[in-house]
Amino acid sequence: MTRLKIRQVLCHEDNYAVLLHDEKSGETLIVDTPEAGPIMEVLETEGWRLTHILNTHHHHDHVEGNLALKEKYGARIHGPALNREQIPGLDVALKDGDRIALGEYRIDTIAVPGHTLGSVAFYVCDERILFAGDTLFSLGCGRMFEGDAETMWHSLDLLRHLPDETRLYCGHEYTLANGEFALTVEPGNAALAERMEQVRKLAAEGKPTLPSTIAQEKATNPFLRPESMEIRKTLGMKAVENWRVFGELRQRKDQF
Ligand code: ZN
Ligand code: FE
Repeated sequence: MTRLKIRQVLCHEDNYAVLLHDEKSGETLIVDTPEAGPIMEVLETEGWRLTHILNTHHHHDHVEGNLALKEKYGARIHGPALNREQIPGLDVALKDGDRIALGEYRIDTIAVPGHTLGSVAFYVCDERILFAGDTLFSLGCGRMFEGDAETMWHSLDLLRHLPDETRLYCGHEYTLANGEFALTVEPGNAALAERMEQVRKLAAEGKPTLPSTIAQEKATNPFLRPESMEIRKTLGMKAVENWRVFGELRQRKDQF
């Protein structure tokens, strides 16, 4: 039985910060800090002391609460080495493959350039939990602010090869809007239609659509499905590399 407790904290309009608490060691980490207030509220309610802050990338809506949380709890801040200048209060600069310990749990850093060049994802191997930041969303993916299509596709391809049962946590609640686009490029995907029915219901009830799973995303998320003949037909791209299909999808989504 797992000793890890997980709390998804909604910040601002649609940002998620995720708390992970290890009951045995008493250590607690947060992935991204869109704003300190709501995160502190959950920490106080649960009686948890924050020990680790993990930043997936340097964008303001992922690091804004860093300093306030560090000051209050003395948590150590971990983030991509490439953005050490932009991440407030950074203590530990991470590179691909670096490991972070939360009690006896091991968390792997996976470099996923594309949304930003420094973007990283965090993977709790023993529990199969992935924190993808703004790289992979449910039914979508982040915009390419710094990387090109080939780079970002390579990052998404890494993530889709994680075990099927891996639980996916993301930086934003964008699933409903992402799904509306997904339906336009792969209207015949029954798994997608079914997922959207569920997503619409959750959204109407004001409930989170996350976490998702890697298996679910591989079946429904067009950005992980460049091999789909239906998507290729929609785009009019037959015999081309996956990254080109991905790039075309990303461009269409930007204009959607
Ligand atoms: Zn971002
Ligand atoms: Fe963001």
